[in-house]
Amino acid sequence: MMDWVKTVCLVLWAFTFNSEADDFKEQALKLMADTPLIDGHNDLPWQMRSLFNNQLNMVDLNKLNTTHTNIPKIKEGHLSAQFWAAYVPCDTQYKDAVRQTLEQIDVIHRMCHEYPEVFKFAASSQDILDAFEQNKTASLIGVEGGHSIDSSLGTLRTMYQLGVRYLTITHSCNTPWADNWLVDTGSEPEVHGGLSEFGKQVIWEMNRIGMLIDLSHVSEKVMNQVLDISKAPVIFSHSSAYSICNHKRNVPDDVLLRVKEKRGIVMVNFYNDYVTCKQAANISDVADHFDHIKKVAGSSIIGFGGDYDGVTRVPEGLEDVSKYPDLVAELLRRKWSEDEIRDALGRNLLRVFSKVEEVRDHLNGTKPDDIPIPLKEVQNPCRTDFGYEAKSSSTCIKSFYPLVLVLSLLSKLL
Ligand SMILES: [Zn+2]
Repeated sequence: MMDWVKTVCLVLWAFTFNSEADDFKEQALKLMADTPLIDGHNDLPWQMRSLFNNQLNMVDLNKLNTTHTNIPKIKEGHLSAQFWAAYVPCDTQYKDAVRQTLEQIDVIHRMCHEYPEVFKFAASSQDILDAFEQNKTASLIGVEGGHSIDSSLGTLRTMYQLGVRYLTITHSCNTPWADNWLVDTGSEPEVHGGLSEFGKQVIWEMNRIGMLIDLSHVSEKVMNQVLDISKAPVIFSHSSAYSICNHKRNVPDDVLLRVKEKRGIVMVNFYNDYVTCKQAANISDVADHFDHIKKVAGSSIIGFGGDYDGVTRVPEGLEDVSKYPDLVAELLRRKWSEDEIRDALGRNLLRVFSKVEEVRDHLNGTKPDDIPIPLKEVQNPCRTDFGYEAKSSSTCIKSFYPLVLVLSLLSKLL
């Protein structure tokens, strides 16, 4: 008799629980139908490089199933706008970083051309809304890592002309003008104490041209310096909360408060290692980051920055881009209001982007910064010095000159 009662109770509980879950999912989908979900960081372009050497002609994004991202998953996940990362590894620094980055920009444009019924190239806050109206995924470009501009403001401006709308100040390496997050772990030496003078020029030029400043991957000093000097709000395109998982890629509470003050945004990363500081994580662990950021700084600074296809481990329940509605449902279950959800889905990013555009328009008429980085700060064997002083031999030859001298002396001695 008791067993029979137990079974009925269990069935009733399961039924109530499931129908409650269904209700939240339904409510999530309703919200996602009226507000675009904008994700700050996806590395599908890097997958195109590493799996196919950017030979998009060999790929069918409707059928590709080895990645977190494909067209059916995008549709199921109601992914309305995506900043696609034009990422190239730090190994390319001082080598072919600019060429490789241009090729990643090219592959993103090609994705849009190849699937015009799915993707709509976007370069403004209004473009995101227009794509949403047309039921397409607004496709924006973010360059991930300051090494990609090779210490050149001209290259930064040219990338803007090509449609790039954010630059992550560093990836996981120092540039000749900014320190990266590894400095805070002690595994890399601090070189600039944050930003160099040229680093500040980069920030102000980004303000002037209307490029979003992305602080994911930088050292804490850089975060604070940029928050001090930027004329526009900043973004963290894919970082989570440090208080929940003490990883230096995450954002500490005091910085969350400063981001709030500046009306910026932190787009939560789903990578297990940043979510739980362990190899395993689940959807509820990710929601804990959303809750924490909301508790510390309010829902007006939160966004989604999944980092799909850029990481090897993703949480249970958030296996690919089709799962965003489940995370929204989880937030609803945690009593987030519909307005708070709409903020996190896309309204916050749209606000930040519009403000960045407003600052650009306000600075319209100011001249481009054409003061180059000091030559001594970019001495490396693969950089020539044309334009600096009188044209002479290349830096390459100069920097090898002492070595050549020593070798020739040695050969005379032997
Ligand atoms: Zn990253």
